[in-house]
Amino acid sequence: MVVGDVTTAVDVLVIGAGPGGYVAAIRAAQLGRHVTLIDQGPPGGTCLHRGCIPLKALLSASERYQQICSEELAVMGIHAEEVSFDWASMQVWKKSVVDRLAEGVQRLVAGNHIDYIHGTGWFINAQEVRVEGEHGSLRFKFEHCIIATGAEAAPISGLPYDGKHVLTPEQALILPELPEALSIVGDDYIALELATLFARLGVKVKLYSPGEHLLADVDPVALRFVQAGLRKLGIQITTKATMESIAERPVVISQGVCPRTPGLHLNDVGIEATTNSGIKVNSMQQSNVPHIFAIGDCTGGRALASIAMKQAKVAAEVLSGQRVQFAPLVTPLVVHTTPELAAVGSTAEEATKAGYNIVTGRFPLAANGRALTLGTDNGLAMLVANADDGTLLGATLVGPRAGDLIGQTTLSIEMGATLTDLSEILYAHPGLSETVLEAAEGALGRAIHMLARG
Ligand SMILES: Cc1cc2nc3c(=O)[nH]c(=O)nc-3n(C[C@H](O)[C@H](O)[C@H](O)COP(=O)(O)OP(=O)(O)OC[C@H]3O[C@@H](n4cnc5c(N)ncnc54)[C@H](O)[C@@H]3O)c2cc1C
Repeated sequence: MVVGDVTTAVDVLVIGAGPGGYVAAIRAAQLGRHVTLIDQGPPGGTCLHRGCIPLKALLSASERYQQICSEELAVMGIHAEEVSFDWASMQVWKKSVVDRLAEGVQRLVAGNHIDYIHGTGWFINAQEVRVEGEHGSLRFKFEHCIIATGAEAAPISGLPYDGKHVLTPEQALILPELPEALSIVGDDYIALELATLFARLGVKVKLYSPGEHLLADVDPVALRFVQAGLRKLGIQITTKATMESIAERPVVISQGVCPRTPGLHLNDVGIEATTNSGIKVNSMQQSNVPHIFAIGDCTGGRALASIAMKQAKVAAEVLSGQRVQFAPLVTPLVVHTTPELAAVGSTAEEATKAGYNIVTGRFPLAANGRALTLGTDNGLAMLVANADDGTLLGATLVGPRAGDLIGQTTLSIEMGATLTDLSEILYAHPGLSETVLEAAEGALGRAIHMLARG
C-alpha cells in the first residue's frame, strides 16, 4: 500500500497501446465508454515503432535501391550511374514514417477523448490496477479491463540478446551500421523479410532455417519463387540448422515470441494462462475473469497485428453489450520478399488432407499484361476450390503487390464465393487482379489467356 494512495474509478481500462490496445480503446470510446489507456511508451506498440512499419519502410527503400541497380531498368532504357545509399539516412526516413503515423494515432486517441496515462500497469486484484509512471504511482478501479501488453522475442537458452552480437528482429532494424555479413535464424516471414532487406543492401546474408522448409504451410510451388528470389540476392540458405551449428556473429534470431505477461501479477487475479504463458480467452476475448479481456500477442496466439486489431474490436464491442466473436475463417499471410508472396486459406495439400475433393487453377504472371508493363513476369496466382460446389478454399499469389491483392480472395473465402463468382465480375484491365480471374477461369476449364492443360 502506498501512503496517501487514492483510487480513481474508471470505466474501461486498457493496458498496452499497441495495435490491439489503441484500437480497442478507440472502438470502446466510439461505443460511448469512457476509456483510460495505459502504456510505457507512445501509442502504436511493437508494430508501429519497432516491427511491421519500420521493417516495411526499410524494405521499400531497399527495394527501390535494388531496382535502380538492376539490369531490368537498363532494359527499359533507364541508365542510372553511381547509385548509392546511406543507411543512416534510410533510418531517418524510416523514423519519419513512424513518427507521422504515431502522430496520427495520438490524434485519434485524443480526438476520441481517451485518457492516456504513461506508465507500467499491473493488477492489485481483479478490480484494480496500479500504474507506476511519470505521474508517480496511481491506482485505478475499473468496470472492465482489456489486457493488450503484447509479446517479446522468445528467449534462446544460453544466447542472451545484446543488440550487437545476438539480436532480435527489432534490434536488427536499428543497427547503427550495416554489418558486412549477417546470419539470420528463422523460417518465418520476418526472417525472410530481414534476409531480403539486408541482402538488397549488399550484406552477405546466411539464412538458417531450423525446419526442413522455409515458410511452413505455404504451397511448395509458390515457395520455389521466393527461394529463387532469396538465392538471386546471394542469400545462402541452410535448412535443418541447429543453434549450436551457428557460430557467426552478428546473428538475428526470429524464433517466435512469448507473451508479455509476467509482470502483470495475473496470479493475484486468478487469470488462467495458456501453455505458452499467454492469457487464455474465449472467442469473445474474455478471460476466465469475465470483466477482464485480453487481445493480441499477449494471448499467446499467432502474433500478427491484423489479429490484434480484430480482437480489439471484438473485446470493445462485447464489453459494450454487443454479441460478437473473433471467428475469422482465414488469416492472410504476406511476405515482402522478391517476389512478394501472399497466401490465405488452404493449400491444395491441406484441403485434400481436410477431406475436400478439390479443383485448382493457376495463372502465370508471364501471361498478364499489367505484370509485363511493370517489367516483371516472375510469379503466379493459384486458387484451390471445392470441386463439389466451386467454393474457394485457398489462394496463393506471388508477384508485385500480392499482399494488397490477397484481400479480394480473403473476402471471397469469408463470403463463400465460388470460382464462378470470381470469374463473373469485371476486373480492371490491364490489372494484376486479372491473374485471379484467369486462375478461377482456369480451374473452371475456360481461361482465355492460357491454353487448357492436357
Ligand atoms: C520485426 C517485426 C515485424 C512484424 N511485421 C508484422 C507484419 O508485417 N504484419 C503483422 O500483422 N504483424 C507484424 N509483426 C507483429 C506485430 O508487431 C504484433 O503482432 C503486434 O504489434 C501485436 O500487437 P499487440 O497490441 O498485441 O502488442 P504490441 O504491439 O506489442 O503492444 C503492446 C504494448 O503494451 C505495452 N505494455 C506492455 N506491458 C505493459 C504494462 N505492464 N503496462 C503498460 N504498458 C505495457 C508495450 O509498451 C506496448 O506498447 C511484426 C513484429 C516484428 C517484431
